[in-house]
Amino acid sequence: MTPFTYDALPARVVFGSGTLRQLAAELTRLGCRRALVLSTPEQRGTAEMASKLLGAASAGVFAEAAMHTPAAATAAAMEDVERLGADCMVSVGGGSAIGLGKAIALRTDLPHIAVPTTYAGSEATPILGETDGGEKVTQRSLRVLPEVILYDVELTLTLPPGLTVTSGLNAVAHAVEALYATDANPVASMLAEQAIGLLGSALTAIVRDPSDTAARSDALYGAWACGTCLGLVGMSLHHKLCHVLGGLGLPHAPTHAVMLPYAVAYNAAAAPDAMRRVARALGASDAATGLFALARSLGAPLSLAALGMRSDDIGHAADLAVANPYPNPAPITREGIRGLLDAAFHGRGPAQQQH
Ligand code: NAD
Repeated sequence: MTPFTYDALPARVVFGSGTLRQLAAELTRLGCRRALVLSTPEQRGTAEMASKLLGAASAGVFAEAAMHTPAAATAAAMEDVERLGADCMVSVGGGSAIGLGKAIALRTDLPHIAVPTTYAGSEATPILGETDGGEKVTQRSLRVLPEVILYDVELTLTLPPGLTVTSGLNAVAHAVEALYATDANPVASMLAEQAIGLLGSALTAIVRDPSDTAARSDALYGAWACGTCLGLVGMSLHHKLCHVLGGLGLPHAPTHAVMLPYAVAYNAAAAPDAMRRVARALGASDAATGLFALARSLGAPLSLAALGMRSDDIGHAADLAVANPYPNPAPITREGIRGLLDAAFHGRGPAQQQH
């Protein structure tokens, strides 16, 4: 017997193709009348399309969302919420737009419909990371969990192959760490194993043909499952390392894509059951080398150097990653983490990692 604790998260999920046309009905269902539609500047066109579909139920579009939810963007969006009399938010986009919707929900408790167009998974979590003055503060609160997630596979067809791959591997990382979380539970583990397999094959098919709607659908479903895992259980070494590297200016999803095989290799001996499940999902003989082979076959970035990290920062990153204790299957040692970062910096592959 493996004892466990499981806290279900409340959320309504609407999944399909062309589902954006159901947005107005979802708003009405929540008892709302005036939505502020949020996006990054790059996705203003999609946000305007959503706003048009809402007609009189749209209060306007705020298209200044940015990575890591900067305080200045939240303050500007809050002014629009008040000035326009918005009674809910609709965020259209990836983790940046959804993060802004969560930041407003934290401050106002207004309902939030998330319309995700990447695979980052923020829509399914009660987690919000905000930055102010270069410092990122992360918190958990049910107030930031979106009331409705509306997935429209059609909106993901424009996600370029490069972003599709790094965002998809970012999602896989949530599922992998869920399998060896100290608070792992059977629901999260079942979703995780299914999602790793689905994303592995869907990403391969999308790289071949970005307009393959069946693969896009599998990838988006897989991303929901991975996001659900992230919301249900605590993350470990991989997410800690990516958080540290993000603080040094490295991009979010590509950093996850590079680091995952190395974090998995570090934990392999301490989490054999999770490794068996990852390998089985990928149809590989070994979890870490299977993940590395997948990333390579997808054309993902394979080294931290390729993401612009400086070799001088390896020691500093290792110091930051061991500064505070956190749950992880394998013991965290500075020497081990330094070896891991060194291998990831050069892209040597997890088989060559020293720890
Ligand atoms: P993102 O939201 O910044 O999107 C990346 C780029 O892709 C943006 O320019 C965006 O406009 C564009 N884009 C998104 N969807 C597109 C589409 N379908 N077609 C064309 N372009 C599209 O990046 P992300 O990786 O989705 O999210 C990263 C952010 O989310 C980070 O700030 C991260 O910390 C946060 N995040 C939070 C959680 C959480 O649970 N709180 C989980 C995952 C990520």
